[in-house]
Amino acid sequence: MVDLHTHTFESDGTDSPSALIEKAAAAGLSTIAITDHDTLRAHAQATIRASELGIGLVTGVEISTRARNRSVHLLAYWFKEPPPQAFLLWLDEMLEYRRERNRRLAERLRSLGLNIELSEAEALGRTITGRVHFAKLLIAKGYATSISQAFDKYIGEDAPGFVLMEDPQTPVAVRKVRECGGIPILAHPIRLGMRDQAVEETFIREQTEAGLLGLEVMHSDHDQSARARYLTLAARYNLSPSGGSDYHGDIKPNIHLGRGNGGNVQVPQDWLDKLMSL
Ligand code: AMP
Ligand code: FE
Ligand code: FE
Ligand code: ZN
Repeated sequence: MVDLHTHTFESDGTDSPSALIEKAAAAGLSTIAITDHDTLRAHAQATIRASELGIGLVTGVEISTRARNRSVHLLAYWFKEPPPQAFLLWLDEMLEYRRERNRRLAERLRSLGLNIELSEAEALGRTITGRVHFAKLLIAKGYATSISQAFDKYIGEDAPGFVLMEDPQTPVAVRKVRECGGIPILAHPIRLGMRDQAVEETFIREQTEAGLLGLEVMHSDHDQSARARYLTLAARYNLSPSGGSDYHGDIKPNIHLGRGNGGNVQVPQDWLDKLMSL
């Protein structure tokens, strides 16, 4: 079994890269991909522990993009060569958009009467500071009692404190990953929130035309019927099926490395082999 979607504390997970590898070994996984938001920083640290423990480690990253006024997460993988300098520079641009969003987010929260400084949120993050770090700060200051409440009350997409990030359009990001030799895969399509299945299918077809190569069929948010639907769509558009738990450590305790939520993620080695042959 493998897990192709995990986060460390370099983005908004809670495990160190080494601890994540140790947990993968304990869970009996043969290979994991680390797919932090906007940063590849964890890989250098994880590589040593992975080779010591005989765990395969895939280079990956999760990029926030936008399409039709929705947030769309794109996973990008490099199975053979590491990503080129041009891609690293592009990720640095994303980090700059993120910093600018965070500045505006702190301002917005202050305008709502909350005593929140950007530096306080940044002190909780490492390579990136994300909304999860703002959620932790809101809890520490008594404005919320849980991460999910912090999102619902203040910083979630429909909450009063939400500010948009200047994300690239999804097809632009797909093409960029391809130009840089990576394999772009649409993450957790269920979170597109497109209730009309014809609209969802059109969206997926359009990304395929831009160069998308895979669809995350297994994910902690996908129940049996979602998995079946995405497997069918993957076959229809010649996309490779992929999957992972989206493990974030302690902040999302229901999501287990390699197994997802209640065992709904079980990604076979076959799927990885097929992706590696692209
Ligand atoms: P950001 O990229 O900083 O905008 O933060 C997005 C991240 O916040 C996602 O990848 C999730 O890890 C987390 N997140 C988004 N919405 C929620 C929510 N409602 N509850 C908990 N975590 C969330
Ligand atoms: Fe996250
Ligand atoms: Fe995501
Ligand atoms: Zn993720």
